[in-house]
Amino acid sequence: MFPIKLGVFMTAITLIHSVFAEDIPNPPQALAFHGSDWPDFDAHVRRWSSYSAPKFTGVFKPRTEDELSQGVAYLAKTKQRFLATKAGGHGNSPTLGTTYNEVVQVNMENFRHVIFGKDGDKVTVTVGGGARMQDIIPRLHAEGREMTVGSFPCVGTHGVLLGGGMGRLMGKHGLMIDSLLRIKVALWNGTIVEASESSYPDLFWGIRGAGHNFGVVVESTFKTYPDEGGMHYNADMVFTDDSIDGVLETAMEVIEAGLEPSVFLILGYLFDETAMKPVLFINIVSAHDTEAGKSVSARFASSSSQGITRVHFNETLITFAELGSGAALPGVCANSLSQDLYTASSPSLFSPESMKAVYASYASFISANPAANRSILLFEAASPHVIASVPDDATAYPHRGKMVTNAIIQVTWDDESLNEVADAWGRETRNLLARPENSGYEKLYAYINYANRDEPLQALFGYEEWRWEKLSKLKREYDPEGYFDGYHGIPRVVEGWYGKEAAGAGSMQKPMSTPHEEL
Ligand SMILES: Cc1cc2nc3c(=O)[nH]c(=O)nc-3n(C[C@H](O)[C@H](O)[C@H](O)COP(=O)(O)OP(=O)(O)OC[C@H]3O[C@@H](n4cnc5c(N)ncnc54)[C@H](O)[C@@H]3O)c2cc1C
Repeated sequence: MFPIKLGVFMTAITLIHSVFAEDIPNPPQALAFHGSDWPDFDAHVRRWSSYSAPKFTGVFKPRTEDELSQGVAYLAKTKQRFLATKAGGHGNSPTLGTTYNEVVQVNMENFRHVIFGKDGDKVTVTVGGGARMQDIIPRLHAEGREMTVGSFPCVGTHGVLLGGGMGRLMGKHGLMIDSLLRIKVALWNGTIVEASESSYPDLFWGIRGAGHNFGVVVESTFKTYPDEGGMHYNADMVFTDDSIDGVLETAMEVIEAGLEPSVFLILGYLFDETAMKPVLFINIVSAHDTEAGKSVSARFASSSSQGITRVHFNETLITFAELGSGAALPGVCANSLSQDLYTASSPSLFSPESMKAVYASYASFISANPAANRSILLFEAASPHVIASVPDDATAYPHRGKMVTNAIIQVTWDDESLNEVADAWGRETRNLLARPENSGYEKLYAYINYANRDEPLQALFGYEEWRWEKLSKLKREYDPEGYFDGYHGIPRVVEGWYGKEAAGAGSMQKPMSTPHEEL
């Protein structure tokens, strides 16, 4: 729809006129547009996942808000597709690759500022659209403040924010979007607007949950919270294989009884390359409430009556900065591997039978495909009450109170010949967990930032028709030409939503005939 001419970029700004294709006008002279022969090109377009990744033809790297505005206006005027990225470059949705075969990267690395301020009695932090989690977490810690942030340092603050923004503190402080006070955005034509409850409130509503669809974020301002001394209880534990029944049943009891707001529980499967078998582990974090954390840990102590043998147990107190360092799962941030994510949610925990079946299937999958041995499964659980305390219609994020546990199936491999088999295993695993008898939901609910490409759009944006109407109207108004369609794009017409709703998660046992990327 928006043809890109190959070779339209130049190696240096001064060469614009000599190499620019004649049928596309040159970009404004002073702007930092670079072609694929730029020596730094590869470093700029490298991404976390090479699987179904967008293919960049050039890089536009604005240095100021004004340059961003001019460059985006130029790209739209010349009908060249673009994708704002390279804060983290961790957006793994295969829709990016299928939408963007030839696309200009709007590289936001010059927008990594983190500035503290005051808004009435609130202590705020303004974060640039190119900042990564590693840019804000240590700064918050140094200021004695905290907020919900993503769990890994390498990930972009804004890719996370725009889908809602989950993290270990969400039981206490809600989603990242729930702390957002205002956001400055370059629209498709380069116009810069600031959205908040009182300025462009409709756009502010849409950005909070469907935010990849509307513009390039210059910066966002959040309220922050005192860090109450800053220490977090952290416990890591590993169990024997034959503890799986006891651990899963105990986890179900703990989650059904309700987690304290301070607690974030991860139950996961890793692969031990030396022993050539999966490892069943749990990580528990409790923000400023050691007793709450300890009481959950105690439930997983070795016990013959529960059938649990805990072979490793390490309890510590760590700072907010250490919590966000990603030390719990080193290697997760490694770039350029093939990565494919699938997800499903449960109002409590997935049935122990299904999680046990997934453990066995994971062992078989890795044994048969050793090149995929960095794949992991995470079941992340938190108290839903603070998130649910925000009215359901207050933001585009549609899953308030629904996602007590999210399953994250992260298939990782480094051999392209495995593309199909790896993707199929991820999808089948999600399908098994998402069955109503396993997830507890008749329909699939999927957090957009962990979603793949075959979910019904409603699973990402909500099953209520009023949401489809509102989102499509916003899309027509703020992205009429579809420049921001690449990350789970919203249909511009309401009709685009009808007839696509899956009857229920069970319908995904076969590949869906209308995956949402084809809408
Ligand atoms: C290792 C890892 C850990 C993760 N942990 C969490 C977590 O704790 N919580 C959570 O909620 N999610 C988490 N995620 C999922 C994460 O939210 C998504 O992968 C997200 O898309 C990554 O954003 P990014 O900015 O790094 O990626 P990018 O690929 O740079 O961006 C992803 C999408 O966001 C858009 N985008 C990014 N920046 C801007 C901007 N400034 N303006 C406009 N659009 C922009 C891009 O255009 C693209 O559509 C994790 C993912 C990974 C790989």
